[in-house]
Formats: sequence, C-alpha cells, structure tokens
Amino acid sequence: MNRVLVTGGAGFLGSHVCAELMKSPDHFVTVLDDLSTGKMENIAPFLDSGRFELIRWDVRQPFDRPFDQIFHAACPASPEAYQKSPTSTTKTCVLGTLNMLELAKKYDAKILQFSTSEVYGNPLTPLQNESYFGNVNPVGVRSCYDEGKRCAESLCADFAREFGTKVKIVRIFNTYGPHMDIADGRVVSNFIVQSLRGEPITIHGDGSQTRSFCYADDMVSGILRMMNDTADDFQGPVNLGNPEEIRVIDLARKVLGMTGSSSRLVYKALPGDDPIQRRPDISLAGEKLNWKPKVSLDEGLEKTIRYFRELLTP
Ligand code: UDP
Repeated sequence: MNRVLVTGGAGFLGSHVCAELMKSPDHFVTVLDDLSTGKMENIAPFLDSGRFELIRWDVRQPFDRPFDQIFHAACPASPEAYQKSPTSTTKTCVLGTLNMLELAKKYDAKILQFSTSEVYGNPLTPLQNESYFGNVNPVGVRSCYDEGKRCAESLCADFAREFGTKVKIVRIFNTYGPHMDIADGRVVSNFIVQSLRGEPITIHGDGSQTRSFCYADDMVSGILRMMNDTADDFQGPVNLGNPEEIRVIDLARKVLGMTGSSSRLVYKALPGDDPIQRRPDISLAGEKLNWKPKVSLDEGLEKTIRYFRELLTP
C-alpha cells in the first residue's frame, strides 16, 4: 500500500486529487482537513471504501504519522476566502508547510507543494515563466497569500538543500470545475451561479483584466505527473495551467451565452492589487512532464455549468 496524505483533501482541487488517487487499489489515502473551506460532500464517495480516512486537522498544528507521499494543498485559495482572516492565511501557508515538510523529512516522504501563480503578483510580463521573480506588493491585501506562498516555496527549496527532503513545487494557475465552492467568490463560479440564478453578473473594474483558466481534470493530471515523475526527480517550481487567455468581461459574455441567461452586467470596484494579466508559460511542464492541458474553456465550462445547474436544482 502506498500511504498518501492529502492536506486540504476535502477542498476543490484536493478532492479531485483524492478521486484520482482512489482509482488505484494500491493507495491508502488520508486527508487532513479542518473543513474551513473544504466540504464533506466532496469526499463522501470515498468514506466507505476502506482505503480512505478523513482526519479533521488544522495543518498549523504539527502532525506525526508515516506517509510515502504528501500532497500539501491545505489553504484557503480564493481571494475572498484567504482575505477573511489574512493573518490566519499567512500562518496556514507558512506553519502548515513547515509542519508538512517536517513530516516529509522525518519519514523520507515525497512532498508536493501546491503553490500558485500568485507568487508572480501583478506580473509585468504578458506570459509568466518560472524564472520570472514576480511583482508582489508585500503589504497589500493579497500579500498574506502571495507572500505566504512565496515563503512556503522558499521553505521547500531550503528543506531540499539543507536536509535533502524530496520536494516538488507546482505553481497552479486559475483552475475551475465541479466541487468549486458556490460562495467562495471566484470568478468562474460567481459568473455561472449568477447566470443560472438570473442575478446580476458582477464585473470587477472594467473587466479588461485577463486570466487563463484550466479545467480541474487537466490540473490533476499535471499534479500527478509531477509527483510520480521519477526520471530526474524534477523539483520545480513548474507552472501548471492553461495558456488560453481571456478577459473577464469576455468570460462573462461567454457564460451568459452558454447558460442562456438574461442576467445583466454590473460593474464593481476593482479589488486592491488585482492582477491585470495572467497567463502561464507551460513549456517547462511540456519538456519535463510531457504535460499540457487537453480540455478547452468551452468544454470545461459546459461541464462546470452542468455541475452547478444540478447543485442549484432543488
Ligand atoms: N472577478 C470579477 N467578478 C467576480 C469575481 C472575480 O470580475 O464576481 C475578477 C477578479 O477581480 C479578478 C478575476 O475576476 O480580476 C479573477 O478572480 P478570482 O477571484 O477568480 O481569482 P484571482 O485570479 O484574482 O486569484
């Protein structure tokens, strides 16, 4: 049995990783999750499998048990969620990662850190590659997450250098799909839910800022490739995302069209330090992991709309 720990395994991406791991009978999956943003529904299908357990745990507390692999995803990830208690977010990023690295070091486990495109801050380059050091406001409203995740990467790199810990770092760009929290404030879920409910679509700023959206299944395949790549034990960091870039306003129009909604657009103030552009250069992932996303935005939105439609149907 491969003993696998997924922190944040009841969350959006964590639960998709669990689903993929559970397909193999060789895995025993342990989830640490305090259910602050994660949901029992996301992991309900695995609870009676005999190869899965949920431990309600805040990763800011040390945890001690042997594992072979650690997927360290635990952290609120939507701007609305991570800004609710910014000091807690920083502690989760830093102390949570430190605790998981200590665990990996003690039991010689391989640990994969869920980092983020937010380490690039408000990027000054149209296409971000891993050698770009970013443009982060260290005292802005997003810094709890941006700097927290940067510090977490730094801890990973130092554990590898100082103790030889087996670390892997993926920088996850905007990802969407089923299991997104209906109320976490992210743009894809907001626009879909607002469209389906016939509520106004909330555009921040003039909607000219861009993002590049990756479907969850593609992201999970990249994450698993990274964990299981043994050829040269590539440490990363590596960008994972879909380079198909779109303006927020165009995403709103697309979602309106696909849902057949007559919701109107309303314009709100652009939140502080909201990046004006974001698009991953994924050539390194192609070269090292032979990975690239397969699901187009239209196809992924179709599936995500279906998920939310079912969720909203009484
Ligand atoms: N956004 C928006 N309306 C919403 C939610 C988000 O216009 O209801 C914008 C947000 O300001 C940002 C982009 O959409 O420019 C992506 O936001 P999200 O919270 O999904 O993630 P981010 O990439 O900012 O971390």
